[in-house]
Amino acid sequence: MLLTGCSTVPTDNAEPLPGEWSVTNAVPAAGAPKTSRSVKPAVRIVPIPPVQTNVPPSKISQPAPILAWTSLNRWAADNKLSAPRKISSSPVASYAITSPKGTMVLVIGSRETSWRGLGMHLGFAPEIIDDQVYIYGLDLQKNLEPLLLGEPLAFSPNRVLVLDPGHGGVNVGTHSLVDGRFEKEFTLDWARRIKSLLVTNGWTVFLTRTNDSDVSLSNRVAFAEAHHADLFISLHFNSAAPDKKQNGVETYCLTPTGMPSTLTRGFNDAWTNRFPNNAFDAENLKLAVRLHAALLRGSGEEDRGIRRARFMGVLLGQKRPAVLVEGGYLSNTREAEKIQTPQFRQKLAEAVTAALK
Ligand SMILES: [Zn+2]
Repeated sequence: MLLTGCSTVPTDNAEPLPGEWSVTNAVPAAGAPKTSRSVKPAVRIVPIPPVQTNVPPSKISQPAPILAWTSLNRWAADNKLSAPRKISSSPVASYAITSPKGTMVLVIGSRETSWRGLGMHLGFAPEIIDDQVYIYGLDLQKNLEPLLLGEPLAFSPNRVLVLDPGHGGVNVGTHSLVDGRFEKEFTLDWARRIKSLLVTNGWTVFLTRTNDSDVSLSNRVAFAEAHHADLFISLHFNSAAPDKKQNGVETYCLTPTGMPSTLTRGFNDAWTNRFPNNAFDAENLKLAVRLHAALLRGSGEEDRGIRRARFMGVLLGQKRPAVLVEGGYLSNTREAEKIQTPQFRQKLAEAVTAALK
């Protein structure tokens, strides 16, 4: 079963590039706006085979993916933004690009980036070509545009939230290094606390499980569908055992089609797959940003970034914005001690509530 226990295999390094990583297989940027230009043949372009979709084409309203590397200066000018500013040269060059919505910092040669001070991950590392920053088109489309140019996520009254307390029953999740209690217990308590806070804020909240039962991942997705959920949030705690040092908060959303994931946990990361939840790529990211920012503020814990994964069975079938949050490491003594206190779990619940106001 997927995600039987939360554990993070460190996969911060860029994933291996596919064998066909060459300009000769470059796919023309079909439907790409004139603001993007294909770069010279010396530049690598990621080929993307035709998208294999599980969603009827009529249900997909997203623009065609942009597959060309694009000058960030050109993109900024076309969107009436100031040119990116170089903010450091050493040890690595980094650039800031700012819109009225906030600033994103891009590091040359690294997928790690930040948005309004929050850690997040690009699909591909920015490059310098002819003294200019170049960004892969899918990153512009899936990471920069939703945050720098898009409208913020708005929540109308009477919305339905499905909260998913991770694990349950024989699927215990990970366990606390401090007292051995299981992740399933902490996630259910966290969900109950969020529900009691949100019902007074105009939300209708359902939990995929309200007791210590083992609900399959597919039934959690079906539950959200049956309850006409507008949003879906899966709640987890993390483990890096036997590593006791790793700590911090992580927020996951589904990897956009054509991009490598931040975390694969050993699963095949088929870039070309398109899942129903990919129709909500922009909303997923915006929801992840709100939750991640609020959780960092509320918990005071380390920022391990907004991340992408495509193996999480509770996310990929969702026909609504959906994210999975890891509210700290039960394999880290200091965090496990905090997580086992009701006061800290209340803080985490208040953080989720704050993100949805
Ligand atoms: Zn978990």
